[in-house]
Amino acid sequence: NVGSIQLDQVDLLSLHSFPPCMRKLREHLRSNHHMRHGGRMQFGLFLKGIGLSLEDALQFWRDGFSEKTDAGKFEKNYAYNIRHNYGKEGKRVNYTPYSCLKIIMSSVGPDDAHGCPFRHSDLSHLKQQLLAWNVPVAGINEVAELVSQGHYQLACAKYFQLSHGAQCDEGIIHPNQYFVQSQNVLR
Ligand code: SF4
Repeated sequence: NVGSIQLDQVDLLSLHSFPPCMRKLREHLRSNHHMRHGGRMQFGLFLKGIGLSLEDALQFWRDGFSEKTDAGKFEKNYAYNIRHNYGKEGKRVNYTPYSCLKIIMSSVGPDDAHGCPFRHSDLSHLKQQLLAWNVPVAGINEVAELVSQGHYQLACAKYFQLSHGAQCDEGIIHPNQYFVQSQNVLR
């Protein structure tokens, strides 16, 4: 499905159909104009998985970095990796987007934006984030309860339910599956 999502659709989709881990990365890129490697991998492969073409991906990241990184530096330091993720460089492997389990198990440093917010954000920060995304307080408490029991993917499914007004019957196992489920509900 590469090419099924256009560059100008990404921002609106990020508000309605990206799971929290990816919406957070979109916001991070917009406010920081930079993203460390772990985030570029997690987010870049997700975007590929929802159908962004290589050309649009290069444009997306170039735009995202443009305030701090000129086109020459971008090409030199970052473009290779993006093409690599699309299987156009190196061993030409067609890399697949990360599952929830892989993201939840990933190691996340203090300056990193990747990971699963339910697993890697501290609880007060997660609550603030959900409030900023207009989740009602009672719902935030339900999510927090699941998180404190270590049920990160159930917390994500609860977030899905709260933000879509519909259950995600299959549960959440993959950010790209979250996206597809969301589009199925919203379309
Ligand atoms: Fe992303 Fe999965 Fe965490 Fe949800 S549970 S935020 S889809 S990693």
